Amino acid sequence: MNNPMPSPLPASPALADYHTHTPLCHHAEGWPADYARQAVARGLAELGFADHSPMPAALEPFDDWRMALADLPRYFDAVEQARAAFPQLPIRLGLEVDYIAGHEAWIEELAGKAPWDYLIGSVHYIAPGWDVDNPAHISRFQTHPVEEIWRMYFDAFEKAIRSRLFDFVGHPDLPKKFGHRPSGDLRRFYDPVIAALAETGTAFELNTAGLRKPIGECYPSFDFLKLAREAGVGLLINSDAHAPEEVGAGFETAAALAREAGYTEVLRWKKRACTKAAL
Ligand code: ZN
Ligand code: FE
Ligand code: FE
Ligand code: ZN
Repeated sequence: MNNPMPSPLPASPALADYHTHTPLCHHAEGWPADYARQAVARGLAELGFADHSPMPAALEPFDDWRMALADLPRYFDAVEQARAAFPQLPIRLGLEVDYIAGHEAWIEELAGKAPWDYLIGSVHYIAPGWDVDNPAHISRFQTHPVEEIWRMYFDAFEKAIRSRLFDFVGHPDLPKKFGHRPSGDLRRFYDPVIAALAETGTAFELNTAGLRKPIGECYPSFDFLKLAREAGVGLLINSDAHAPEEVGAGFETAAALAREAGYTEVLRWKKRACTKAAL
């Protein structure tokens, strides 16, 4: 039992945290009501859940880190319990959907399975059986050039954005997680993705989980953030919490970065419609 006192959030009373997980994905701890307690203690304006999306039953067992389709009703119940326990806190229902090329029809089917407030599009798989952020595959950074790994990831990420299936996309430069970054000007990776975001009206998140990983910085990098701001792309700040104490973690750092990049607003979502809040 460890239940540390949440640290206060002085800077950003208006922030929401829309990227949080539940034990249904088999690698997160704490139920939605526990996350909601932390959100209230930190003074967050809203909380949203976005657990790892189920795969169609025919593709199971797909991997060991996502919800089972049969567990969706438990997910909805757990979010409802949090709403009942903390009626003062707006709690949104979302999903972190794995974008995999060829799965578009399944993602459309998922989109119809609940009155989602938002769908996050994330790329973890850069090839079949290769989820780029999984420590089980870290040795592939020794057997493949990092340039190639980043190219595979960013090509998939651009496809995810251009599918127009998502309200915003998750952790834009995820392959840097363990510290692997190509040399030179990384705009060759960022520019096509930012153009896709601007053209499709898709937003992205500044995800603080990277602060807790070997790379030690938010996803995406500050350079990406500045370019996205210049292109008029909408922003959210999210923790990607896999435990209640991570709700709102790193938000002071992220809000300062976003303001420095020129952002003055963050986006909120309800029933897949977007509004703006001051940053
Ligand atoms: Zn996860
Ligand atoms: Fe993810
Ligand atoms: Fe996540
Ligand atoms: Zn994530």
